[in-house]
Amino acid sequence: MERFPHGVKASLTIAEPQLSRLAEASISLLEPLAVSMAFDGQGQLELSFHAVVRSECLRCRKPVDRRLELSPAVLLFETAQEADSAMMSDPDVDAISTQDQRGIAELVEDEIFLEMGHGFAHTECQATVEAQTNRPNPFQDLAHLLSMKKPS
Ligand SMILES: [Zn+2]
Repeated sequence: MERFPHGVKASLTIAEPQLSRLAEASISLLEPLAVSMAFDGQGQLELSFHAVVRSECLRCRKPVDRRLELSPAVLLFETAQEADSAMMSDPDVDAISTQDQRGIAELVEDEIFLEMGHGFAHTECQATVEAQTNRPNPFQDLAHLLSMKKPS
């Protein structure tokens, strides 16, 4: 841990066994995950990390690797109650408290999940994935046809 005039800086390495939810989602890390943290002394924690993740391609199911660069800002509170109410009042706010059971590893997992959304696809698979997502829902067409045939 290193102190600078208005805060504290620290870095830590998160080992893969600490990221059990990623493992459950078949996401693996190709490099150890190093997180650097800067605390400004006024309730805000700046996290910054990069992760090289491997997951299944949305189309071909073969492994696809992505490098994520993330630097979420997290508000730090004394009590879990304060942290909860801060998150409830603003959905964009991420908060932890000093009494929180939710550690940095879980925070990092949350950020990775958020960034990944539905998952990744290879560049050459991406077009197919997009075409599939944009395809109209067949049930919607059916509903439309039925509504046209309905006697007025
Ligand atoms: Zn693919």
